[in-house]
Amino acid sequence: MTAILSEATRQRDLIVLTGRSIFDRGLTAGSTGNISVRLSDGTMLMTPTNASLGSLDPQRLSLIDSAGRHLSGDKPTKEAFLHSCMYCRRKADHAVVHLHSSHAVAVSILGDVDAQDVLPPLTAYYVMRVGRLPLIPYHPPGDGELARAVKAKAKDHHAMLLANHGPVVSGRTLTEAQYAIEELEETARLHLLLHNRVIRPLTAEQADALRKK
Ligand code: ZN
Repeated sequence: MTAILSEATRQRDLIVLTGRSIFDRGLTAGSTGNISVRLSDGTMLMTPTNASLGSLDPQRLSLIDSAGRHLSGDKPTKEAFLHSCMYCRRKADHAVVHLHSSHAVAVSILGDVDAQDVLPPLTAYYVMRVGRLPLIPYHPPGDGELARAVKAKAKDHHAMLLANHGPVVSGRTLTEAQYAIEELEETARLHLLLHNRVIRPLTAEQADALRKK
C-alpha cells in the first residue's frame, strides 16, 4: 500500500513536470493534449478535462480504475478512451501521451500519404523510437468508431496518427512515450521542411535493421 502511494506521488509529479515541459515548448496549446500513467495496481492517473498541460495540479489529476470508473480527482479528459484503448492492447506499456502538435497535425491532414506508414524513415532515431506510423481515419469527437479503430491498431503499433487530429503514443514509461512523441513531431516537421525536395530516406533494409534492435 505504501509502495503504491509513493509510486503514485512520483508519477503525479512526473505528469505535471512533463506536461509543463510539453506546453512551454509549444508542443500543444490551450487545453489540448493529455497524458496518462498506468500504475502497478492497474489504476490510471490521467490529466483532467479542460486542463492545460502547462498548469496541472498533481492533486487534481484524475484517478480511474481499469474499467474506466472515476475514483478521485477532477473528471478525466474526454479523450480518456484513447488511453484505455492503448493500455488494453499493450500490457507492457505504462504511459500514453496524446498531443495536438502542429507539424504532426499538419501531416495528418495531407491527402497523399501512405495510411499504413505516414512518415518516411528519415532518421535512425525516428525508426527506433516510433517505427511504422499508421493513420487512423477521421471520426468526429465522441464517435465510438475512433476507439475501435485505435484498439485495432494498438496491438502492433505504439504510435499512431489520428487523421485531422494528432498523434497518440504509448511507452513503457512516461519518459519513453514523451521522447517518442517528440521524435514523431520533429520528424513531421522535417517532412514538411523537405516538401518538394528530392529526399534520400533510409532504405527499407536500413530501416528494418533498426526495427529488429
Ligand atoms: Zn485530441
